[in-house]
Amino acid sequence: MPFTIAIDGPAGAGKSSVSRRVAQTVGVTYIDTGAMYRALALKAKRMHLGVEDHESLIPLVSELKIKFSPLSETYQQSLFLDEEDVTEAIRTPEISQFTSALSVIPDVRYGVVALQRELARNDPRGALLEGRDIGTVVFPDAGLKIFLTASPEERARRRVEQFRRLGLAADYQEVLQDQIIRDARDSSRKDSPLKAAADAVVLDTDGFALDEVVDKIVKLADERRSPIA
Ligand code: C5P
Repeated sequence: MPFTIAIDGPAGAGKSSVSRRVAQTVGVTYIDTGAMYRALALKAKRMHLGVEDHESLIPLVSELKIKFSPLSETYQQSLFLDEEDVTEAIRTPEISQFTSALSVIPDVRYGVVALQRELARNDPRGALLEGRDIGTVVFPDAGLKIFLTASPEERARRRVEQFRRLGLAADYQEVLQDQIIRDARDSSRKDSPLKAAADAVVLDTDGFALDEVVDKIVKLADERRSPIA
């Protein structure tokens, strides 16, 4: 099996920035699994479906046509849903909450996880998957598992910065509240709750610069990929 890196953790722990840089440096495909659940949520929302519409949601998963662009030199990636660029449309607070509610449904997860495995196995160079359940459920045999954390306040502060960079208005208290609700839902759901795999390396990123975290993971990946005989 190609080398697989799993990076899990709660919203705002710095997963995306870290994962993109690590994937680029190590030279593996980057798969943003949260974006896949978000694309599904966007599609469902546009069809005016709610979380209770299981019957209509499940077939939607198997029809999901999503494509990631390769990472750019500045670590940007676009996501196309049915050929439409939805990179920004999937990042609104409304879609974040709806995504978190949809991803509780076991049949939804089952379908999206199958897609994630397919995407990862398509690249002989290997893949880095970023999400909540990669090390525990999607790739329990991953060559390297990282669980990134940071304090709730630090995570909310980073999220606000992210929104502002996208030109979106963001209120710290609102973002913090939104994050608390999503964290609670992600951690308490019966199917694939957010938790560190027993064999994951847990990294608390509070007080660490992005480059320091990236370097640490790249070093671990190099060691795991070519273990000293
Ligand atoms: O990582 P991101 O914030 O984009 O994920 C959006 C939502 O998708 C999360 O709050 C979570 O509910 C869900 N998700 C998930 N499993 C994953 C990735 C994301 O349930 N592997």
